[in-house]
Formats: sequence, C-alpha cells, structure tokens
Amino acid sequence: MVVTGVVTEVARLIAANHSYAAARANVADPRPSRHLAVVTCMDARIDVFAALGLHLGEAHVLRNAGGRITEDVLRSLALSSHVLGVDTVVVMQHTKCGLAGVTDAELQERTGADLGFFPIDDHAVALREDIALLTSTPYLQPVRLIAGFVYDVESGEIDDIVRWERPT
Ligand SMILES: [Zn+2]
Repeated sequence: MVVTGVVTEVARLIAANHSYAAARANVADPRPSRHLAVVTCMDARIDVFAALGLHLGEAHVLRNAGGRITEDVLRSLALSSHVLGVDTVVVMQHTKCGLAGVTDAELQERTGADLGFFPIDDHAVALREDIALLTSTPYLQPVRLIAGFVYDVESGEIDDIVRWERPT
C-alpha cells in the first residue's frame, strides 16, 4: 500500500509537469533580480512567493525545519551573496511551527536522530540569534540588509520583528 501510494504521488507530479513545461515562464538569468534571499520553514502552509509578492527569478528561497540559520544555509548564502548578487536576506519564521515549544531532547527521542534541531522558544529571541549569526559571519560581508519576520499561518500576515543594516 505504501509503495502504491508513492508511485501514485510521483505519477501525479510527472503528469502535472507536462502541463507546466508547456506553459512555463523562462528566466535566463540565475541571479535573483531583486537581489534577495528568503530563509524560511519547510512548513507546507507557507506559500513563500505568494505571501511576499515574489515571482520566478526574483529571489532565492532556502527552506528547512524552522527556517533556522544552519551550516547549510550559510553555505548557500555564501554563494547567493558572492556569486549571485544577493544583498538582502529575509529570515521568516512562522506561528504554529513544529519546532516551537519543543526541546532537542524531545525531538531526538522522537526521531532517533542525534541531531541539533534548532528548536524555538521565542520567535523574537530566535530571530535575533539567527541574525546575529548572519551578521557575524565574515564571508557574508556582501549582505547589506537583513529582516526577521514571523508569518502568521492563520491570517497570512507578517510581523516585522527585526531589522539590520550594515553600517556604512
Ligand atoms: Zn515551521
């Protein structure tokens, strides 16, 4: 049953791609035209492009559990900023996040994975920590502006929590 379910789901993706490929917009330039990267949670309720009024070709979108600044996000942002012209980073956490109000110990127990899961106690605190990490990372010097948002998955509205601009 599980295998059938997977095959069906994959078949749906391939079928959807046929109509997409026929109608898609083509963007030739790999550099985001708004010089923007958005780091946000993988939560299925967040439509990043629609929520922020973005279109194809305009921004990098980096997603993980919680929308936290991990080593891999730093790796991607090193390329975004140095190779692909990004100078603005938005870090967007959200309400009702699965990483809020839990501990590493609980998540390690639940998953059997001995990992740091970057749980969130308080969105404002976590955003400030993540933005401090971005601003103290020496190789992210091309980044001039960072904003920290919390997206409300019920209202669709954004709470504008933190803002940082590189001193000139
Ligand atoms: Zn989340």
